[in-house]
Amino acid sequence: MAVSTGGTTGGRLVHHFRDGNASMRDLLGGKGANLAEMTRIGLPVPPGFTITTEACDLYYKAGKRLPEGLRDGVREALTLVEEETGKVFGGGSNPLLVSVRSGAVISMPGMMDTVLNLGLNDETVKALEREAEDRRFALDCYRRFIQMFGDVVRGIPHGEFERILERYKRRQGAEFDYEISGESLDSIISDYKELYKNSTGSDFPQDPFEQLLMAVEAVFASWNNERAIIYRNAHEIPHDLGTAVNVQTMVFGNLGPSSGTGVIFTRDPSTGTPEPYGEYLVNAQGEDVVAGIRTPRPIAEMRTEMPKSYDEIADVCQLLEDHYGDMQDIEFTIENGKLYVLQTRTGKRTAAAAVRIAVDFVREGKTDKAGAIGMVDPNQLEKLLHRTIDPKAQVAVLAKGLPASPGAASGLVVFDSQEAKRLGEAGETVLLVRPETTPEDIGGIVSAMGVLTSRGGMTCHAAIVARGMGKPCVVGCDALSIDMDREVLGVGGVTLTAGEWLTIDGADGRVIKGQVPMVDPELSADFQALLQWADDVRDIGVRANADNPTDAQKAREFGASGIGLCRTEHMFMEEDRLPVVREMILSATETERRGALDRLLPMQQGDFEGILEAMEGLPVTIRLLDPPLHEFLPDAAEILAEVSKLRATGASGRLLQEKEELLNKVNALEETNPMLGFRGCRLGIVYPEIYEMQARAIFQATANLVARGVDAQPEVMIPLVGAVTELAPLKEMVVRVAEEVKAESGVVFEYLVGTMIEVPRACLTAEEIAREAQFFSFGTNDLTQMTFGFSRDDAEGKFLHHYLHKDILEVNPFEVLDASGVGRLVELAVAGGRQARPDLKIGICGEHGGEPRSIAFCLEAGLDYVSCSPYRVPVARLAAAQATLKRGT
Ligand code: PEP
Ligand code: MG
Repeated sequence: MAVSTGGTTGGRLVHHFRDGNASMRDLLGGKGANLAEMTRIGLPVPPGFTITTEACDLYYKAGKRLPEGLRDGVREALTLVEEETGKVFGGGSNPLLVSVRSGAVISMPGMMDTVLNLGLNDETVKALEREAEDRRFALDCYRRFIQMFGDVVRGIPHGEFERILERYKRRQGAEFDYEISGESLDSIISDYKELYKNSTGSDFPQDPFEQLLMAVEAVFASWNNERAIIYRNAHEIPHDLGTAVNVQTMVFGNLGPSSGTGVIFTRDPSTGTPEPYGEYLVNAQGEDVVAGIRTPRPIAEMRTEMPKSYDEIADVCQLLEDHYGDMQDIEFTIENGKLYVLQTRTGKRTAAAAVRIAVDFVREGKTDKAGAIGMVDPNQLEKLLHRTIDPKAQVAVLAKGLPASPGAASGLVVFDSQEAKRLGEAGETVLLVRPETTPEDIGGIVSAMGVLTSRGGMTCHAAIVARGMGKPCVVGCDALSIDMDREVLGVGGVTLTAGEWLTIDGADGRVIKGQVPMVDPELSADFQALLQWADDVRDIGVRANADNPTDAQKAREFGASGIGLCRTEHMFMEEDRLPVVREMILSATETERRGALDRLLPMQQGDFEGILEAMEGLPVTIRLLDPPLHEFLPDAAEILAEVSKLRATGASGRLLQEKEELLNKVNALEETNPMLGFRGCRLGIVYPEIYEMQARAIFQATANLVARGVDAQPEVMIPLVGAVTELAPLKEMVVRVAEEVKAESGVVFEYLVGTMIEVPRACLTAEEIAREAQFFSFGTNDLTQMTFGFSRDDAEGKFLHHYLHKDILEVNPFEVLDASGVGRLVELAVAGGRQARPDLKIGICGEHGGEPRSIAFCLEAGLDYVSCSPYRVPVARLAAAQATLKRGT
């Protein structure tokens, strides 16, 4: 029989586990949908029901009041659970106890609240004692319940309960909670109730149904607690999804030696090794594992300690992995030898594990190559490319903890999460060091380079959260002695205070003194295989933005099929060039300017030879000078100060005159809106000799290389063109220089001349522009600025976060291409350009070129390639393949 009531708008607000399935995630949340699915396929799931995310939505819409009809729906669902279990909610014998847990559509581990053992009161606790034949156990459940309920539902600080508990432990000489006697527990319960009454003004509720509704409301409310909001911001989870609430029959892992609880991954979430991986604790409740209070044992030991249960859970692993077609993270409890599955979800994994699992799934015949491509989040790949400790470095290992999340990080030790957040946001490199973390620490974890804890296992809070974020993390390092009051850390005979450097290696658990050198990673064979499969299916090319031979080489290693943007101004900024560049800018006459340019020419030529050679056989798009000239000059305020000083000392003559001239020149070049000012092709039009020198450097480099048998393929790109009349003369000049170099050198070479499309007018007149341009490359950084009329620096610094917060914009358009605005211009330009020149080569070189959603847009828009930073190249290759597969070939 299905629960049918409970909804006044839309559908039902309460669904029994038997009524749902995996596809109902939006309504039931991830956990609820999976509990329903596991029930459906016959796994031993304790009976229960889910209150929908829609109910949460109605709760908020009604000004935080439980929606009408929810009470009846819950009552009816409870009756069904009572029938199934033969237990009675609030019953004087065989009482039904439930857990009440949050369950959002997208998993937010530990961010919202949970209440366990709900249904206990002064009567049912006696019934539980009779049932379990264990007075201590029943009283312990009741005291845990009052504590959790008081904390979660009524906001009584956890520490106040702990203080009472500690007092009794001390009195009794007990070291661990489980040593507390029944008599003490009786008194603790009385003290807890008194604390509850003093803090809330009312008695601890004895009516289980009232307890249940209060707990449901508290879970709804916890959707908007501070840590949940920070977590959603960090993971780009929309704030309006709301959470479902799962109410489920309690099972007990703490009934003695044949009971226990654990977390098992169907494969190793750190490395992807295809063996069950996890931890368990005998005679314990689930929260003992997750909270990191008792250090759990590796799951492999369960094979000998509880062989029957191990075999059962291993079978469940196989079944769930096959059923869901992905690695699962499963929570289980064994109650007096009977296995219960409490939860399954797609397991969070490191990037390395994600790649290995995807490739292994193909090897094991569990999916095909397209399936494997879809299993890996492209954004995660970048983490594999991050640095590790240089194996040649001499390091002083102070201690070793559990390797919870790979990657190495050095940072200044910070003990306080608020402080870590503050310093991290201020640009400091910090390492968060704590005995353990709780969801309150989320802000500090987000801002830190890595996390180190003295307690906890591989599935403790710090480990799970850091892995999810791809942050290096070492946990359970019991050699650390942390004095939180004095903010001092003792480890391996060394004492460190806050603000000193420390390094962790999340791949092997090492804690290392000071700051250490790091190296770039080696890419695994699985990584290469997966990306090769991606290359085989993708319908769009991937190039890299690189300005020097080292980056070009890196780009090539990462699989770039060319350079999509070489920003030549970066070469102008180098220390040995800057004086010559300044001389060039400050020249009074063209002859003087040409003199400086003649000296810059060989330097630029060397740069281009390096890049073109590194990219032998692949195209290299070189953009001529773009930024405003004053960017190369010293700061006006500084020169003014010098001039004033010279004048004050009564100086006259050459030095003062030179400084005054410099000041005049700098002032003359100063602009109100440099982004919209004298830059890009506008410079080339006014000072053609600058672009001419650059063109000559490019072609002489090409001629030299071709003469040496190197296949150099330059593509000269004119920036910031808005009218074909800007492009035409510059193109003519570039072609002239190419022909001159060919004649002078006697070498024949190929090249293209094209333009960036980054001014809206260029999009609107693309057909005309394409008559002159052999290729287009969308500069979507500028195109986004100019389409929105936002200056990026001002927008991101001042108002964009308000726009995002108030949902005026869904995402930052500088990160994700704005398909409906900027994208329309891109489409217009593609259509116009190809109208004039059907074989027009078109790419994108704005930062969007490395962002998966924008890449999918570029594919749809018919671009030939995307170009992004070298480290994003693997991301783009995979994202391009996923987009191609999604579109259908
Ligand atoms: C662009 O505008 O997108 C671009 C790539 O050029 P830059 O960022 O150098 O202005
Ligand atoms: Mg630009």
